[in-house]
Amino acid sequence: PGDALRVRGLDVTFTTRRGDLPAVRGVDLDIAAGEVLVLLGESGSGKSVTARSVMGLLDGPGVRLDAAEIRVAGHDIVGGRPDDVRRLRGSTMSLVFQDALSALNPVLSIGDQLGEVYRLHRGASRRQARAEAVELLRLVGIPAPDRRVRDFPHQFSGGMRQRILIAMAVALGPRLLIADEPTTALDVTVQAQILDLIDRLRAELGMGVLLITHDLGVAAELADRVAVMYAGRIVETGTVAEILDAPAHPYTAALLRSVPDLADPGEPLRPIPGSPPNLLALPTGCAFHPRCPRADDTCRATRPPRRPLARADRTAACHHAEEGVDATV
Ligand code: SF4
Ligand code: MG
Repeated sequence: PGDALRVRGLDVTFTTRRGDLPAVRGVDLDIAAGEVLVLLGESGSGKSVTARSVMGLLDGPGVRLDAAEIRVAGHDIVGGRPDDVRRLRGSTMSLVFQDALSALNPVLSIGDQLGEVYRLHRGASRRQARAEAVELLRLVGIPAPDRRVRDFPHQFSGGMRQRILIAMAVALGPRLLIADEPTTALDVTVQAQILDLIDRLRAELGMGVLLITHDLGVAAELADRVAVMYAGRIVETGTVAEILDAPAHPYTAALLRSVPDLADPGEPLRPIPGSPPNLLALPTGCAFHPRCPRADDTCRATRPPRRPLARADRTAACHHAEEGVDATV
Protein backbone atom coordinates (compact mmCIF):
# COMPACT_ATOMS: atom_id res chain seq x y z
CA PRO A 1 0.00 0.00 0.00
CA GLY A 2 0.98 3.61 -0.34
CA ASP A 3 2.12 3.40 -3.98
CA ALA A 4 -0.26 6.14 -5.06
CA LEU A 5 -0.62 8.07 -1.80
CA ARG A 6 0.92 8.00 1.64
CA VAL A 7 -0.06 10.54 4.32
CA ARG A 8 1.21 10.52 7.90
CA GLY A 9 0.16 12.78 10.73
CA LEU A 10 -1.55 15.53 8.75
CA ASP A 11 -2.69 18.50 10.85
CA VAL A 12 -4.29 21.57 9.29
CA THR A 13 -5.23 24.63 11.35
CA PHE A 14 -6.96 27.75 10.07
CA THR A 15 -6.23 30.85 12.09
CA THR A 16 -9.38 32.92 12.35
CA ARG A 17 -10.32 36.04 14.26
CA ARG A 18 -12.27 33.85 16.65
CA GLY A 19 -9.31 31.57 17.29
CA ASP A 20 -7.48 28.55 15.85
CA LEU A 21 -9.73 26.22 13.92
CA PRO A 22 -8.40 22.63 13.84
CA ALA A 23 -9.77 21.46 10.46
CA VAL A 24 -7.75 18.23 10.20
CA ARG A 25 -6.00 16.29 12.97
CA GLY A 26 -3.66 13.33 12.76
CA VAL A 27 -4.84 12.03 9.40
CA ASP A 28 -3.00 8.99 7.95
CA LEU A 29 -3.91 7.60 4.53
CA ASP A 30 -2.54 4.91 2.19
CA ILE A 31 -3.76 4.25 -1.32
CA ALA A 32 -2.23 1.55 -3.50
CA ALA A 33 -2.07 1.76 -7.29
CA GLY A 34 -5.44 0.78 -8.73
CA GLU A 35 -7.22 1.11 -5.38
CA VAL A 36 -10.19 3.31 -4.45
CA LEU A 37 -10.24 4.77 -0.95
CA VAL A 38 -13.41 6.62 -0.02
CA LEU A 39 -13.19 9.43 2.51
CA LEU A 40 -16.67 9.55 4.01
CA GLY A 41 -18.20 12.14 6.30
CA GLU A 42 -20.55 15.08 6.75
CA SER A 43 -19.62 18.46 5.30
CA GLY A 44 -17.11 20.26 7.48
CA SER A 45 -15.48 17.02 8.66
CA GLY A 46 -12.18 17.85 6.94
CA LYS A 47 -12.43 15.77 3.76
CA SER A 48 -11.85 18.57 1.24
CA VAL A 49 -9.14 20.15 3.39
CA THR A 50 -7.35 16.78 3.37
CA ALA A 51 -7.65 16.61 -0.43
CA ARG A 52 -6.31 20.12 -0.94
CA SER A 53 -3.40 19.37 1.41
CA VAL A 54 -2.44 16.34 -0.68
CA MET A 55 -2.57 18.47 -3.85
CA GLY A 56 -0.27 21.03 -2.23
CA LEU A 57 -3.00 23.66 -2.59
CA LEU A 58 -3.21 24.69 1.06
CA ASP A 59 -0.71 27.40 1.56
CA GLY A 60 -0.58 31.03 2.51
CA PRO A 61 -1.73 33.28 5.32
CA GLY A 62 -4.26 31.90 7.74
CA VAL A 63 -3.29 28.25 7.17
CA ARG A 64 -0.92 26.10 9.20
CA LEU A 65 -0.15 22.69 7.72
CA ASP A 66 1.97 20.11 9.50
CA ALA A 67 2.58 16.57 8.35
CA ALA A 68 5.25 13.99 8.98
CA GLU A 69 4.79 12.88 5.39
CA ILE A 70 2.67 13.42 2.27
CA ARG A 71 3.86 11.46 -0.77
CA VAL A 72 2.11 11.04 -4.11
CA ALA A 73 3.63 8.21 -6.16
CA GLY A 74 6.76 8.68 -4.06
CA HIS A 75 7.00 12.45 -4.66
CA ASP A 76 7.42 14.57 -1.53
CA ILE A 77 4.57 17.11 -1.25
CA VAL A 78 5.33 18.59 2.19
CA GLY A 79 9.08 18.96 1.73
CA GLY A 80 9.08 19.38 -2.05
CA ARG A 81 9.96 22.66 -3.77
CA PRO A 82 6.81 24.61 -4.70
CA ASP A 83 7.77 24.49 -8.40
CA ASP A 84 8.15 20.71 -8.31
CA VAL A 85 4.81 20.29 -6.54
CA ARG A 86 3.14 22.59 -9.08
CA ARG A 87 4.47 20.42 -11.92
CA LEU A 88 2.99 17.31 -10.26
CA ARG A 89 -0.50 18.87 -10.28
CA GLY A 90 -2.38 17.88 -13.40
CA SER A 91 0.26 15.30 -14.34
CA THR A 92 1.10 12.94 -11.44
CA MET A 93 -1.92 13.96 -9.35
CA SER A 94 -5.23 15.42 -10.45
CA LEU A 95 -8.29 16.83 -8.74
CA VAL A 96 -11.86 16.66 -10.01
CA PHE A 97 -14.63 18.37 -8.14
CA GLN A 98 -18.34 18.88 -8.35
CA ASP A 99 -18.72 22.08 -10.34
CA ALA A 100 -17.59 21.26 -13.87
CA LEU A 101 -19.02 24.45 -15.34
CA SER A 102 -16.85 26.74 -13.21
CA ALA A 103 -13.77 24.58 -13.81
CA LEU A 104 -13.99 24.88 -17.61
CA ASN A 105 -13.24 28.04 -19.58
CA PRO A 106 -16.53 29.18 -21.20
CA VAL A 107 -14.87 30.93 -24.17
CA LEU A 108 -12.53 28.11 -25.25
CA SER A 109 -13.64 25.05 -27.18
CA ILE A 110 -13.32 21.71 -25.41
CA GLY A 111 -10.67 20.69 -27.91
CA ASP A 112 -8.56 23.77 -27.17
CA GLN A 113 -8.84 23.20 -23.42
CA LEU A 114 -7.93 19.52 -23.58
CA GLY A 115 -5.25 20.17 -26.18
CA GLU A 116 -3.63 22.82 -24.02
CA VAL A 117 -2.71 20.15 -21.46
CA TYR A 118 -0.62 18.37 -24.13
CA ARG A 119 0.84 21.57 -25.53
CA LEU A 120 1.94 22.80 -22.09
CA HIS A 121 3.17 19.55 -20.56
CA ARG A 122 4.24 17.57 -23.62
CA GLY A 123 5.11 20.28 -26.14
CA ALA A 124 2.64 18.79 -28.64
CA SER A 125 1.88 20.64 -31.87
CA ARG A 126 -1.60 22.09 -32.42
CA ARG A 127 -2.50 19.21 -34.73
CA GLN A 128 -1.19 16.52 -32.34
CA ALA A 129 -2.95 18.19 -29.40
CA ARG A 130 -6.26 18.18 -31.29
CA ALA A 131 -5.87 14.48 -32.12
CA GLU A 132 -5.09 13.68 -28.48
CA ALA A 133 -8.15 15.68 -27.38
CA VAL A 134 -10.39 13.62 -29.66
CA GLU A 135 -8.92 10.41 -28.25
CA LEU A 136 -9.52 11.64 -24.69
CA LEU A 137 -13.15 12.46 -25.45
CA ARG A 138 -13.52 8.97 -26.86
CA LEU A 139 -11.89 7.49 -23.74
CA VAL A 140 -14.45 9.18 -21.44
CA GLY A 141 -17.42 8.20 -23.60
CA ILE A 142 -18.37 11.44 -25.37
CA PRO A 143 -20.33 10.46 -28.52
CA ALA A 144 -19.04 11.76 -31.91
CA PRO A 145 -15.78 13.08 -30.38
CA ASP A 146 -14.29 14.37 -33.66
CA ARG A 147 -17.26 16.70 -34.08
CA ARG A 148 -17.86 17.58 -30.40
CA VAL A 149 -14.22 18.58 -29.88
CA ARG A 150 -15.10 21.95 -31.49
CA ASP A 151 -17.99 22.64 -29.08
CA PHE A 152 -17.94 24.93 -26.04
CA PRO A 153 -18.71 23.93 -22.43
CA HIS A 154 -22.28 25.31 -22.43
CA GLN A 155 -23.16 23.03 -25.35
CA PHE A 156 -22.77 19.93 -23.14
CA SER A 157 -25.05 18.52 -20.43
CA GLY A 158 -23.90 18.52 -16.80
CA GLY A 159 -22.95 14.85 -17.00
CA MET A 160 -21.00 15.32 -20.24
CA ARG A 161 -19.19 18.32 -18.78
CA GLN A 162 -18.18 16.18 -15.80
CA ARG A 163 -16.82 13.59 -18.26
CA ILE A 164 -14.79 16.34 -19.93
CA LEU A 165 -13.39 17.48 -16.59
CA ILE A 166 -12.40 13.90 -15.83
CA ALA A 167 -10.81 13.64 -19.29
CA MET A 168 -8.70 16.68 -18.48
CA ALA A 169 -7.73 15.20 -15.13
CA VAL A 170 -6.54 11.89 -16.59
CA ALA A 171 -4.97 13.33 -19.78
CA LEU A 172 -1.42 12.85 -18.56
CA GLY A 173 -1.98 9.50 -16.82
CA PRO A 174 -1.93 10.55 -13.14
CA ARG A 175 -0.92 8.04 -10.44
CA LEU A 176 -3.51 9.59 -8.09
CA LEU A 177 -6.94 10.95 -8.95
CA ILE A 178 -8.77 12.85 -6.24
CA ALA A 179 -12.49 13.21 -6.86
CA ASP A 180 -14.23 15.57 -4.39
CA GLU A 181 -18.00 14.99 -4.46
CA PRO A 182 -17.74 14.50 -8.25
CA THR A 183 -21.38 13.50 -8.71
CA THR A 184 -23.21 15.59 -6.12
CA ALA A 185 -24.71 18.03 -8.64
CA LEU A 186 -25.92 15.27 -11.01
CA ASP A 187 -29.09 13.20 -11.08
CA VAL A 188 -28.92 9.59 -9.95
CA THR A 189 -28.65 7.89 -13.37
CA VAL A 190 -25.90 10.22 -14.54
CA GLN A 191 -24.22 9.83 -11.15
CA ALA A 192 -23.94 6.09 -11.65
CA GLN A 193 -22.48 6.59 -15.15
CA ILE A 194 -19.81 8.96 -13.84
CA LEU A 195 -18.88 6.53 -11.06
CA ASP A 196 -18.62 3.74 -13.66
CA LEU A 197 -16.38 5.96 -15.75
CA ILE A 198 -14.06 6.70 -12.81
CA ASP A 199 -13.90 3.00 -12.03
CA ARG A 200 -13.13 2.06 -15.64
CA LEU A 201 -10.36 4.65 -15.88
CA ARG A 202 -8.94 3.48 -12.56
CA ALA A 203 -8.68 -0.04 -13.95
CA GLU A 204 -7.35 1.00 -17.38
CA LEU A 205 -4.80 3.51 -16.10
CA GLY A 206 -3.97 1.72 -12.83
CA MET A 207 -4.26 4.92 -10.81
CA GLY A 208 -5.13 5.19 -7.14
CA VAL A 209 -8.37 7.06 -6.45
CA LEU A 210 -9.24 9.14 -3.39
CA LEU A 211 -13.00 9.61 -3.60
CA ILE A 212 -14.56 12.13 -1.25
CA THR A 213 -18.25 11.89 -0.51
CA HIS A 214 -20.91 12.36 2.14
CA ASP A 215 -23.03 9.78 0.28
CA LEU A 216 -22.96 6.18 1.48
CA GLY A 217 -24.45 4.99 -1.82
CA VAL A 218 -21.51 6.46 -3.71
CA ALA A 219 -19.10 4.86 -1.25
CA ALA A 220 -20.77 1.47 -1.60
CA GLU A 221 -20.61 1.70 -5.38
CA LEU A 222 -16.90 2.35 -5.81
CA ALA A 223 -14.85 1.86 -2.64
CA ASP A 224 -12.30 -0.81 -1.88
CA ARG A 225 -11.64 0.72 1.52
CA VAL A 226 -13.38 3.47 3.48
CA ALA A 227 -12.04 6.01 5.97
CA VAL A 228 -14.76 7.78 7.96
CA MET A 229 -14.03 11.33 9.11
CA TYR A 230 -15.62 13.23 11.98
CA ALA A 231 -14.59 16.66 13.26
CA GLY A 232 -11.27 16.59 11.42
CA ARG A 233 -10.20 13.09 12.43
CA ILE A 234 -10.44 9.67 10.88
CA VAL A 235 -12.65 7.74 13.29
CA GLU A 236 -12.91 4.40 11.47
CA THR A 237 -11.23 2.52 8.62
CA GLY A 238 -12.01 -0.79 6.97
CA THR A 239 -13.05 -2.48 3.77
CA VAL A 240 -16.31 -1.20 2.31
CA ALA A 241 -18.04 -4.46 3.30
CA GLU A 242 -16.81 -4.21 6.90
CA ILE A 243 -17.87 -0.59 7.22
CA LEU A 244 -21.34 -1.14 5.75
CA ASP A 245 -22.10 -4.51 7.35
CA ALA A 246 -20.44 -4.16 10.74
CA PRO A 247 -19.54 -0.57 11.62
CA ALA A 248 -17.31 -0.43 14.68
CA HIS A 249 -17.74 3.27 15.46
CA PRO A 250 -21.07 4.64 16.73
CA TYR A 251 -20.82 7.60 14.31
CA THR A 252 -20.53 5.26 11.32
CA ALA A 253 -23.48 3.26 12.63
CA ALA A 254 -25.51 6.46 13.03
CA LEU A 255 -24.58 7.50 9.50
CA LEU A 256 -25.86 4.16 8.17
CA ARG A 257 -29.16 4.50 10.04
CA SER A 258 -29.71 7.99 8.63
CA VAL A 259 -29.96 6.92 4.98
CA PRO A 260 -32.45 4.62 3.21
CA ASP A 261 -31.45 0.97 3.47
CA LEU A 262 -31.74 -0.68 0.08
CA ALA A 263 -31.80 -4.11 1.68
CA ASP A 264 -34.54 -3.13 4.10
CA PRO A 265 -36.60 -0.29 2.58
CA GLY A 266 -39.29 -0.43 5.29
CA GLU A 267 -36.90 0.61 8.07
CA PRO A 268 -37.61 4.11 9.36
CA LEU A 269 -34.76 6.60 8.87
CA ARG A 270 -33.16 7.98 11.97
CA PRO A 271 -31.30 11.22 11.48
CA ILE A 272 -28.19 11.58 13.67
CA PRO A 273 -29.27 13.56 16.74
CA GLY A 274 -27.65 16.93 17.37
CA SER A 275 -25.36 18.65 14.88
CA PRO A 276 -21.70 18.46 13.84
CA PRO A 277 -19.47 20.11 16.44
CA ASN A 278 -18.15 23.64 16.29
CA LEU A 279 -14.46 23.15 15.52
CA LEU A 280 -13.62 26.30 17.44
CA ALA A 281 -15.05 24.76 20.61
CA LEU A 282 -14.70 20.99 20.30
CA PRO A 283 -16.31 18.82 22.97
CA THR A 284 -13.93 17.36 25.55
CA GLY A 285 -12.84 13.72 25.19
CA CYS A 286 -14.45 12.08 22.18
CA ALA A 287 -15.75 14.79 19.82
CA PHE A 288 -18.79 12.62 19.05
CA HIS A 289 -19.86 12.21 22.69
CA PRO A 290 -22.72 14.78 22.71
CA ARG A 291 -24.41 12.81 19.89
CA CYS A 292 -23.42 9.29 20.92
CA PRO A 293 -25.96 6.93 22.52
CA ARG A 294 -23.16 5.05 24.31
CA ALA A 295 -21.21 7.98 25.72
CA ASP A 296 -20.04 7.51 29.32
CA ASP A 297 -17.71 9.39 31.68
CA THR A 298 -14.59 7.98 30.02
CA CYS A 299 -15.82 9.25 26.62
CA ARG A 300 -16.46 12.72 28.01
CA ALA A 301 -13.03 12.89 29.70
CA THR A 302 -10.58 11.15 27.35
CA ARG A 303 -10.17 11.31 23.58
CA PRO A 304 -10.11 7.76 22.18
CA PRO A 305 -7.02 7.05 20.04
CA ARG A 306 -7.59 5.19 16.77
CA ARG A 307 -6.59 1.57 17.37
CA PRO A 308 -6.40 -1.55 15.19
CA LEU A 309 -9.30 -3.95 15.65
CA ALA A 310 -9.03 -7.32 13.92
CA ARG A 311 -6.27 -6.22 11.53
CA ALA A 312 -3.97 -3.25 11.21
CA ASP A 313 -6.11 -1.63 8.49
CA ARG A 314 -9.36 -2.17 10.39
CA THR A 315 -9.29 0.62 12.94
CA ALA A 316 -11.65 2.68 15.10
CA ALA A 317 -11.29 5.61 17.46
CA CYS A 318 -13.81 4.65 20.13
CA HIS A 319 -13.38 3.51 23.73
CA HIS A 320 -16.07 0.91 23.19
CA ALA A 321 -15.32 -0.28 19.65
CA GLU A 322 -14.55 -3.87 20.69
CA GLU A 323 -17.99 -4.23 22.24
CA GLY A 324 -19.56 -3.85 18.79
CA VAL A 325 -22.22 -1.39 17.78
CA ASP A 326 -25.81 -2.39 18.44
CA ALA A 327 -27.55 -1.35 15.25
CA THR A 328 -30.80 -0.81 17.12
CA VAL A 329 -29.70 1.89 19.59
FE1 SF4 B 1 -19.36 7.13 21.59
FE2 SF4 B 1 -17.61 6.99 23.57
FE3 SF4 B 1 -17.11 5.72 21.30
FE4 SF4 B 1 -17.02 8.38 21.38
S1 SF4 B 1 -15.67 6.96 22.46
S2 SF4 B 1 -17.98 7.15 19.83
S3 SF4 B 1 -18.67 8.83 22.83
S4 SF4 B 1 -18.78 5.30 22.74
MG1 MG C 1 -16.19 19.30 0.90
